[in-house]
Formats: sequence, C-alpha cells, structure tokens
Amino acid sequence: MSQKYRTHTCQALRPEHIGQTVQLAGWVNSRRDHGGVIFIDLRDREGLTQVVFRPDEFLAIAEKSHALRGEDVIQVTGSVAARLGGTANSRLATGAIEVVASDLVVLNKAEVPPFPLDDPKVNEDLRLEYRYLDLRTRPMQENLRLRHRIVKATRDYLDEAGFLEIETPILSNPTPEGARDFLVPSRLTPGHFYALPQAPQQYKQLLQVAGLEKYFQIARCFRDEDLRADRQPEFTQIDIEASFVDEVDIQTLIEGLLARVFREAKGQEIPVPFPRVPYSEAMNRYGSDKPDTRFGVELVDLADVFHASQFKVFRSIVDGKGTIKAINAKGAAEALSKEQLKKWEEWVKTEFGAKGLAYIRWKSGSEATGFDAWESPIVKFFSDEEKAALAARMGFEDGDVLFFGADLNWEPVCEILGRVRLRVSDLLKLVPANTPPHFLWVVDFPLLAFSPEDNKWVAVHHPFTRPKAEDMPLLEAGEYGKVRAVAYDVVLNGVELGGGSIRIHEKELQTKLFGILGVSPEEQQEKFAHLLRAFSFGAPPHGGIALGLDRFVMLAAGASSIREVIAFPKNNRGADLMTQSPTEVEYKQLRELYIQSTRKKEDKL
Ligand code: ASP
Repeated sequence: MSQKYRTHTCQALRPEHIGQTVQLAGWVNSRRDHGGVIFIDLRDREGLTQVVFRPDEFLAIAEKSHALRGEDVIQVTGSVAARLGGTANSRLATGAIEVVASDLVVLNKAEVPPFPLDDPKVNEDLRLEYRYLDLRTRPMQENLRLRHRIVKATRDYLDEAGFLEIETPILSNPTPEGARDFLVPSRLTPGHFYALPQAPQQYKQLLQVAGLEKYFQIARCFRDEDLRADRQPEFTQIDIEASFVDEVDIQTLIEGLLARVFREAKGQEIPVPFPRVPYSEAMNRYGSDKPDTRFGVELVDLADVFHASQFKVFRSIVDGKGTIKAINAKGAAEALSKEQLKKWEEWVKTEFGAKGLAYIRWKSGSEATGFDAWESPIVKFFSDEEKAALAARMGFEDGDVLFFGADLNWEPVCEILGRVRLRVSDLLKLVPANTPPHFLWVVDFPLLAFSPEDNKWVAVHHPFTRPKAEDMPLLEAGEYGKVRAVAYDVVLNGVELGGGSIRIHEKELQTKLFGILGVSPEEQQEKFAHLLRAFSFGAPPHGGIALGLDRFVMLAAGASSIREVIAFPKNNRGADLMTQSPTEVEYKQLRELYIQSTRKKEDKL
C-alpha cells in the first residue's frame, strides 16, 4: 500500500509505537473541545484513533483544527504518545495511545450529514437515500465484511471440491421458478424481449449436458414479485449443479460448505450431518415446511380423542377423515387475556383465511378449579372423558393455553397452527439469545400440487424436478398428489436457506412432466426446445441446489432484514432511493425499442 496518505490505519497503533512519528488519514468521527485543546476521534475502515491538537505545542495547527467538523476527511501527522494517566479507553483497541498532531491537511470538507451516523433509530428510507453515509457505520461495515468472508469461504470450498465457477447470461429467456419475469426489450429484434433470469436453472443443467460436471456461481437472480417483508427484486444465490450425484451427495456437500463457512466466518462449529425430516413429518409436527426446531410446542393429533364426540364440528371432521390438532402454549394464560385471544383469532382469519381459532385457557389463580377453570368457547360441548383424555394427551395444566385447528384438509390445519406456534414462541420468548443454530433438511416434498385457481397441477419446486423412483407407479396411475420429489430444502432456525433437487435428465420423462403441468407440445417447442433437444444428446444424471446468499448472511450476522447485508438494496416498493430508480425514460428511447407506455396519468404509480 502506498504511504502517500498514511503510515498506519486507525486501528494499528499500540503502546509499542509511542515516540514514533506517524501519518493517519480518515474521517472526523467526533470532535471535543477541552478548553482550547481539540480531541478528534479519527475513523477509517479499520477503527478509531484519538488525535489531540495542543495549542501550546503546535499553535497554527491547533487553530486550524477548530474548524473541523464531523465527516471531514483529513490527514494528520503526529507523534504517538501515551494517554495521560487514567484517560486510557479500554474499549478501543488503540485506547492506550493518542497521536499528538504536528500537521493537519484537510483533504475534503463535509456538509453536516442528514442524520447522525451512529443513531440506530434513523428512518430506513433516509438511510437508503444516503446509503453511502449509512455504509460508513460500524455495523454496516461489519455486515459487508462478513458477506465477503462468507463468499470467499464458499469459493474456496467449492474450488477445493472441484467445482468450476461459470457465469451464465443475464439477458436470457424465461425460466419457470414461480415468479413474474423482468423483461428487457430487444432493440435489434423489435417486439422481442429477453427475460432476466429468475435463476440460472436451465443453463446450469445445460452445463451438465455439456460435460462440465461440477458448476457453481455466485449468481444474481431477478424476480418481479410484490415485495413482501423481506424480499428483493434482485438477490444473490450460491448456485450449484453437479453430474453423477444423488441427493445425499448434494446434501453432504452443502453440510460441508455450511460448516466451513461458519467456522471461517464466525469461528463457530456446527454439527453435521443435519437431521433429515420428511415434508409430511415437518408439517405434522411443526406446521411448517421450514420448521424452527429450536423450541417444542409441537402439533398433537387429537382425532382419536374426539372420535365419538357430541361436538358436531369435531365429529363431522373425524367422520370425514379430516384433521384435528392442537398445540399447548405452556404458561401463556397470563400473557393472553380473552381480548388478546380475540385479536389472535382476527389475525388468523385475516392473514391466513382461517375460519377461527378455537382455544382453551386454563385460568390460574381463580376461584374455579379443575375443568371449571377452563375458559373456552367450545369446551361446553366436551364430555368429562374427552376433557381428561385431552388434558393427558396435551400435558395441559393450570396456566396453559391450548389452540386447536380442525378441518377436512390436513395442510391448512398444520399451516395455521404452525403460524400460531411461531407467535407463541415470540410471545413466551422460547428461543434464548444464545441458542445454537438449528440446521435441518426437509426432504421428500410433494412433486406436484393442485392449484384450484388455475384448475391444474403445478410444480411444487420447478418442472425439472425428478419424481422419486418408488413413486413412479403413482405418477403412471395419475395419482399426482401422492408423488414425492427428490427435492430437499436446507433450513436454519426456521428460515429456508435454500433448496434443490435431483433433476429429470430423460427427454421422455421431461415431456411427460410438461404434459401433466399443462404445457402443450407447441408451448414445449416454443419455450423448452433447447432443453429437450439437449436431453436427447446424452444428458448425464444430475442435480443441484441454490442457497440464498442474502438470507444466509443476514442470519449469520444476526441482522433483522436482508437489506442490512446488501450494499445497495431496494426498499419495499422496489425503488432505489439513492439513485431514484426505476425512472421514466425519454420518448425517443422507447421509440427505438418500439415500445409505447399505456400508463395513463391517473394510473397509480
Ligand atoms: N433453481 C432453484 C431455485 O432458484 C434451485 C435449484 O433447484 O437448484 O430455487
């Protein structure tokens, strides 16, 4: 590094440097005036060093220092001195010394920043508008450093495992990952459009047909979705594909990668292999396909308890072979008043379209005892035997709250109780801050799901996912809902880190799958001819996975949103507030593209 500006960083000086003349450069982090003696905390990427301007020693320089303001960029020359007795700052790595300035160059003055950089409560829109200032803060710098370390550890690991990093096009054709495409008009072929990749899915499979065998890419992906809480229209995946592998090979590779990344980036050991939980079990026990297993509150089946119930709602569900389940929020009765329980019910109705949320609250400390202390809109219909069996099954005790889900369909019961389970954990703080990370695989996903809105079968992952060999007869028999896929998701603390599958590599099977998904032969030719043709030229068995890098870094950093680990993210309306994108373009530009906007003035932006 050139020494034109500095001999040391602001993190480097220690007592052994005392007496040396040094040069530092950086930003004025803070400035204090102690009766004419000016103290500056000088900041660079590495840390802080205290600089003192003493008028009795260097009058002209000390006077100049009076004009310094926060965020000015300066260069200081001075000698390293011990801080005077008792003023050492043990919280700073450089806290035992200070630099007594003998020269000061102001490299650039700064306006007063629009917000105090160290205030954690600043409005996020303002932070995003001035992102280059926001990124100067220590937490943001640490997040970006962690991101770098994670990417580096990933590259090193995959390189050592024989993977080649290969770029794939950004201007490409649509690939179905279940979201809307971003389109880019082609000037050279008017009326035609590129799609930005939702994932490099087809390219990475074609690289397997091409005999590259082991591919990876830190790949930018684009999905034009309505931006729910923690999504970005462009995001980054660690994208992987390999030939001659089965699902255990891919899972083992990823376990090794995650263990390595946690060790190198966080100094933390994580045990491998991760538990493998079939989708049906994850839903049955935790009500989620990405279960948070750091706490219990598992879903318990109750259909047999109510097999002869007088309570019509439950009885008809039992008779219709439906599902009745409950969870026990242990000790929640105090925190959940009747009014709060009403609010929870409203929440499941509006958010998840549930019909209601039945509960029993065992009110503690009241006059009433035993079953009489059970507060509930439904309990009057239960016999004493049912109540006793229920309490025994659920471990229901004084002070607990039970929540019920009952429906003819299994999935919504699990899903809604799964949501309630997470809310119970938030309410009762069931995950202490120092809980070690819980990784697991969810495996054996269904291959297909029926979409009532579209009145057709849709791929649960994507249409290139392989059915399980033992379920092929079910596929042949048209029992599509029962066919499982060789697909797997890796989950960390209840968050899906990524997912993948072993793929279809035979032209006939891929054509059949397209057919089941309602993709007509003409459409197959139009959209997938290249893939089907490639499969006819000796495609090896292959499979892969993609991990969401942004989410991974967020979890590793303990950050609250993926925007905290992306240098220049969009806000939740898909806008970059700093550059003001997206933006209108000139009529001439559109004309060159043969494009005309149909937006009327009154259309909402
Ligand atoms: N392309 C998939 C995705 O982006 C991942 C995969 O199947 O490898 O989610």
